[in-house]
Amino acid sequence: MTPVFADPDSTRVGFAKSILESAGIESFVQNENTRTLGPKMFGFSETMLNEPQLCVVDDARAEEAAALLREHFGSASDAGEWICAGCKESNPGSFEECWKCQAAKPE
Ligand SMILES: [Zn+2]
Repeated sequence: MTPVFADPDSTRVGFAKSILESAGIESFVQNENTRTLGPKMFGFSETMLNEPQLCVVDDARAEEAAALLREHFGSASDAGEWICAGCKESNPGSFEECWKCQAAKPE
């Protein structure tokens, strides 16, 4: 599975999921229910742990999904994709940290 969208507002994540569903792309939301897990346990900020992420089940369709979401959330992803300094993985502009190694998005 590949995360394609993240937003602190779970309503937007749910909307993104419905966009992918209507395109026949299977996806699921992770982090949706972590609010009850005691976010201070590991010293992370609540935001980091609780930001819902939309993940595409079929990795092969992740790019298609990301493109679809860019169309719908154009203004939110103006920054475009960024490359992680730690692991060289590309991340959607809406991600504040690397989906792979959790390194912070470069300024
Ligand atoms: Zn990384």
